Amino acid sequence: MKDLLIKGGFTVTEDVEALCDILCSGGKIKQIGKNISAADAELIDAAGKIVIPGGVDVHTHLSLDAGIAVASDDFFTGTVAAACGGTTTIVDHPAFGPAGCSLDHQIKKYHRLAEGKAVIDYGFHGVIQHVDNDVLSMMQTLMKEGITSYKIYLTYGFKLSDDNVFRVLRRAKEINALITVHPENDGIINLLRDEFRAAGKTSPHYHPLSRPAECEAEAINRMILMAHIADDAPLYIVHLSNALGLEFIKIARDRGQKNLYAETCPQYLFLDESRYDLPGIEGLKYLMCPPLRRPSDEEALLQALPSDINTVATDHCPFFFETQKILGKDDFTKCPSGVPGIEERIPLMFSEGVMKKRISLRRFTELCSTNPAKIFGLYPEKGVIKEGADADIVIIDPDKNVTLGKNLLHENVDYCAYEGFELQGWPLCTISRGEVILRDGVFSGDAGRGKFITRKEFSR
Ligand code: MN
Repeated sequence: MKDLLIKGGFTVTEDVEALCDILCSGGKIKQIGKNISAADAELIDAAGKIVIPGGVDVHTHLSLDAGIAVASDDFFTGTVAAACGGTTTIVDHPAFGPAGCSLDHQIKKYHRLAEGKAVIDYGFHGVIQHVDNDVLSMMQTLMKEGITSYKIYLTYGFKLSDDNVFRVLRRAKEINALITVHPENDGIINLLRDEFRAAGKTSPHYHPLSRPAECEAEAINRMILMAHIADDAPLYIVHLSNALGLEFIKIARDRGQKNLYAETCPQYLFLDESRYDLPGIEGLKYLMCPPLRRPSDEEALLQALPSDINTVATDHCPFFFETQKILGKDDFTKCPSGVPGIEERIPLMFSEGVMKKRISLRRFTELCSTNPAKIFGLYPEKGVIKEGADADIVIIDPDKNVTLGKNLLHENVDYCAYEGFELQGWPLCTISRGEVILRDGVFSGDAGRGKFITRKEFSR
């Protein structure tokens, strides 16, 4: 592979934001500075452009088998879409396996799903769907294989009881694993859902009403306090969608709780619950859990981007509207839950965040790249432009105006949740380990070039 010299871009490095050149060699960043020359290197002119560390999306669901439907992006189409949107690393959340399966069951399955397909580097979270001594013991075994974070659920079929949650948290603290949690109050959600169905209230309008923000906030607070009892076990709240949950996170931090992280997603920042009242069944396009919330929740999360939110990930989980989401046409509870977004994350956060002056350019790279890399054991290879790091680099054209829409995107799905959004700025070029895989909007990487990343244990 030829060396690569990126010239004259406004670059967000580990230390500064400045005009500089980057020399990449052997897949790594070799040198950062002014007026670098390298006769044999391929030249990329980045004058007038913004150069950032490649995006790190730590919440995706490629090929997710939800039982009623399988997510439509696999590890090829999903990672191509990611790369086209400026993301160079993903950490995927596996689906549940068969009841009682061992902890490595889904990890083995996902290695098979990703191998030969992924075009960018990838890792997997583990999924804990029951707790016994075998599971707790295998957590340590899998840590050595690079599975250093584990997802638990407080709702759905494989939800954990509080005592089992606590056992997992204590174990995580002991072995430096990070626990990620889907927090919702299972009992109330199921009761409300059943009552709505019994009353014939089955349109998408009732989806958010069946999953109140308080159900999420209560479960967040419960998780936080259990992690605190477990000696501040490392805890990461996924897809935070509401202001009250955010308040509980702030309270815990004010009380001195350590190792507590919060992720939100673009859909909770830029879309609200009025989408469920779109004509007909179009609201099914936005059926996700937790649901879209009120504008005041969006505003609270936007306000917290510079401070209390640690990461922005996507929860990318695409289903075709015409053939899959449609399963919920007579009953929202039969609709597969999830929304696409792996390709839109970096452009949305750049345009709506940086260009609209809600966050600084540096904060944007922290939220979308550096922080997720640090929290999930990918740093300093990923998430940063510095000498010795992997040459995962994205060049954004801040002057390119784009109307977001399905036709522009590479996701294997028939709609875009942000159709019609007018964005300022778009990724022009994506470099993964020194290889240009997106150039002027044209993708050129080979299937299977992406590598599994053996992530490091949690440390902060
Ligand atoms: Mn998810």
